[in-house]
Amino acid sequence: MHPAQRIIYRYRRKRFILCIILATITFIVTLGLRYYTVQSDYKREIDTYNQRAVASLESVLEPIEVARKSLAVLTGIPCDMAQYQLREQAARLQTVRSIGLVKQGNLYCSSVFGQRDIPISQLQPSLPSMHPVMRLAIASSLLPGSPILLLWEPSSPDGQSGVIQTVNIELLAALTLKPQPPMIEKAVLNVANDYLVDKKVIQDIRPRKPGLVEHRFYSKRYPLAVVVTGPSPGAAALKSLPAQIPLAIMISLLTGYITWLATATRMSFSWEINLGMAAHEFEVFCQPLVRARDRQCIGVEILLRWKNPRQGWISPDVFIPLAEQQDLIAPLTRYVLIETVRHLHLFPSTEQFHISINVAASHFHRGVIIKDLRRYWFPYKPEQQLMLELTERDALPDMDYRIVRELHQMGVQLAIDDFGTGQSSLSYLERLNPNVLKIDKSFTAAIGTDAVNSTVTDIIIALGKRLKIALVAEGVETELQEGYLRRHGVSVLQGYLFAKPMPIADFPRWLAGDLPPPAINKEKPRSALTLR
Ligand code: C2E
Ligand code: CA
Ligand code: CA
Repeated sequence: MHPAQRIIYRYRRKRFILCIILATITFIVTLGLRYYTVQSDYKREIDTYNQRAVASLESVLEPIEVARKSLAVLTGIPCDMAQYQLREQAARLQTVRSIGLVKQGNLYCSSVFGQRDIPISQLQPSLPSMHPVMRLAIASSLLPGSPILLLWEPSSPDGQSGVIQTVNIELLAALTLKPQPPMIEKAVLNVANDYLVDKKVIQDIRPRKPGLVEHRFYSKRYPLAVVVTGPSPGAAALKSLPAQIPLAIMISLLTGYITWLATATRMSFSWEINLGMAAHEFEVFCQPLVRARDRQCIGVEILLRWKNPRQGWISPDVFIPLAEQQDLIAPLTRYVLIETVRHLHLFPSTEQFHISINVAASHFHRGVIIKDLRRYWFPYKPEQQLMLELTERDALPDMDYRIVRELHQMGVQLAIDDFGTGQSSLSYLERLNPNVLKIDKSFTAAIGTDAVNSTVTDIIIALGKRLKIALVAEGVETELQEGYLRRHGVSVLQGYLFAKPMPIADFPRWLAGDLPPPAINKEKPRSALTLR
């Protein structure tokens, strides 16, 4: 894989991983929130049910209590005198089955049977009592075997006399404690230690089914509680989660997509280039150009280098095409202009010395390059001749020729870089009217080895001469190439044979001859990049 593709791929992968992570977190958080809200809803449902059930039981028991207390004065009064009031109260309080008066431990008067004479302890062992009593019991006289709620109100300090009421608790419980699936499978009345379950009074109602739990809600007024059994809100919420999955997937996909869009700039190579410019990670190098006749340095080409702290050295072959693709080539060229101007004092200060800067064709659109030169180059009044190198692979035919003319008028020279590698067209060559053709290093390398390409070299040289365009050969690595080019009339040479690109600060020492000539690198010239 090409380094540029590898870098882009790495950024894409990072972005993708981030999206996956955020989408997964969103998925988990959405389900978590749904779990939490469903669980809270279930808990609230149970609480509301219990509160309502206890409140309605209390509201039924309150008037019964009032009646019991008011009837306490009747204990001791003969039954035939009290009976009418007992009946009247029993009739008024619909849930009350019977009311009885007890004297000296004996039930002597009942709203149902009238005069009686039964020890109350026979009917209910816990009676008589000095304290008020509320108990679940099974009726023994009227409708024997049916559950009742016994209510006792003592009327004498020794607790031997008092009023006893029996309440149709079965009906009351059936009305107030209806199951409410799925959360309330069963609701049971609890009075003291007894529970009313399926018309029976029992002492233990542990949930039999596994996974069911019990919630108990006590009355603040009476010794009773409502006990509901059903699935635990947590388990029920967990059970409801599969239904929430489609929603969670949708939200997490949306999050992933938004992250993908939002990171398009921040997690991209273009963001990295911007960061690099801001942090001055780019360094300008220069490579001398020498006169073929006497090897005298007559100019330099400015070349960018990028020391990226995260990726290491990145070759211009990688980042320049990417910068062109991402519309960042103009800012990079401005960076080069600014840096070159800052180092102008290191170059010979004469108009015979030229400084070549590589410019992308896109920078020529709407005259942006002219504005930039007016802003970043000319205000510093450089003595040196400015030359712009345009690479032929950039869509030269699309160039705005009025801008080219204006550049010529401003005294800027134009060179066509890598000449012969792109789609050369003689007509635009004529219209562009370049000052220099730079013979691509692949043709220089072919000299003496590759018959076809060295023929092309000869043709380019002939073309330059015919159109009276100066020729510069790049990539000169051997004296054989140097001799050949010189003999064929190429006036300026550039290549490792004379100097490799160097930091601008090293240039004065190189010019003074203090730097040793470079070791020739046999590396093959690289072809222009093609990115998907
Ligand atoms: P280019 O404009 O054709 O630059 C010449 C390239 O050939 C440079 O590679 C240079 O180091 C290399 N070179 C010079 N002499 C020899 C030689 O004798 N043998 C061999 N094998 N190579 C030689 P570099 O610096 O890696 O730049 C690569 C390309 O990146 C440049 O090709 C140019 O198209 C682009 N580039 C570099 N700096 C800039 C810049 O500031 N702006 C723009 N737009 N493009 C730039
Ligand atoms: Ca160049
Ligand atoms: Ca070139």
